[in-house]
Amino acid sequence: MTREIAARISEARLWDRHMAMARHGATAAGGVNRQALSPEDVAAQSELIQWGAALGLVAATDPAGNLFLRLEGTQPEEAPVLTGSHLDSQPTGGKFDGVYGVLAAFEAVESLVEAGVRPRRPIEIVAWMNEEGSRFAPGMMGSEAFAGLRSLDEVMAVQDADGISVAEALASTRAALPRLPEAALRRPIAAYVEAHIEQAPLLEREAKTIGVVTGIQGKRTFRVEVVGQDSHAGTTPLAERKDALLAATAIVQRLHALCAAPGPQVMFTVGRLVVEPNAPSVVAGRATFSIDLRHPDQPTLERLGDAIAVTCEDARGPCSVRITELVNAASLEFPAAMRDRIRRIAGDLGLPWLNLPSLAGHDARQLHSIAPSGMIFIPCRGGVSHNEAEWAEPSHLAAGARVLAELIAELASSVE
Ligand SMILES: [Zn+2]
Repeated sequence: MTREIAARISEARLWDRHMAMARHGATAAGGVNRQALSPEDVAAQSELIQWGAALGLVAATDPAGNLFLRLEGTQPEEAPVLTGSHLDSQPTGGKFDGVYGVLAAFEAVESLVEAGVRPRRPIEIVAWMNEEGSRFAPGMMGSEAFAGLRSLDEVMAVQDADGISVAEALASTRAALPRLPEAALRRPIAAYVEAHIEQAPLLEREAKTIGVVTGIQGKRTFRVEVVGQDSHAGTTPLAERKDALLAATAIVQRLHALCAAPGPQVMFTVGRLVVEPNAPSVVAGRATFSIDLRHPDQPTLERLGDAIAVTCEDARGPCSVRITELVNAASLEFPAAMRDRIRRIAGDLGLPWLNLPSLAGHDARQLHSIAPSGMIFIPCRGGVSHNEAEWAEPSHLAAGARVLAELIAELASSVE
């Protein structure tokens, strides 16, 4: 039976749907600007719901604004298999980030239907609300609320730059869409699978079509405030200064050396430095900088993150230093059984695959906390993403959908 469903995946149909979705929020430069809960997002959701209706899928939404299209199983009371991603984009986003996971899921379900397969478990295609965090920060709000990792009240209260809250934007979205039945948050899920473009160049470089995603690299972010003393640039002897900028740069150098030591997988970035009073003839009294630290391996991430305070202390000179940790998202590993399935199916389909971690965050992080989850990557040109030039080959989009189709068919027929 494997391959029979995959064989029905239509490369042309999948491609056409990408181009159709890309019209909602199309930018002059060929990209997409589709902010969460915007009129463009509504138009995209609306089109997806129509496609679903034509296929006999039942649409529903939950209190967090996540959208579901359900293919009923022979055992409707069983927990569903969920598959999808997001429809929102960055302001200068591309045609594939997020959308691909939703459309690959759709194509997979359509192939199942065409193959005459009635899955035991229901299968639901999902479009998570506000994955990007571009209009409403932070991202992945919809999946966080769904997984019970963030309260609905907290999500609803977040405002965009114009002071419009998620609650208000969601109300206008609901008013503009057909009336949909409400699905519950935190309901039991049998499994979650997300297909996505890689957003990095590894698959392309290795000439592999399918990325078997081992896990999602974690991230720790910090704010470091170095406090010295404002003083006269012409009269204060060097030896007596408490120069916060000098201390901050020394600390950054030391942190960089610390993080570079374990090898190329460590991502260490100081992307923001604010100097006060930031005047040419005043010794800086205060320097505040950001740290963004990432590594796919949790023990390494933990060790490096925990060494930051000591390193700052060692390099601070005559200044004082205060460190605040802002984000601590652990690196996670998807269940081996899920990765084995993806590898086996890719092998059966004759698709070259590669094990690789996801360097970017995805909704699968949230779902991993409540259900066996996994991700399938496909190459994107030059690894370019969050960019209007983002590009994926039609044949690669179809290949990922083939693996996904066989995978969800398996998961929806499994008894555990
Ligand atoms: Zn995405």
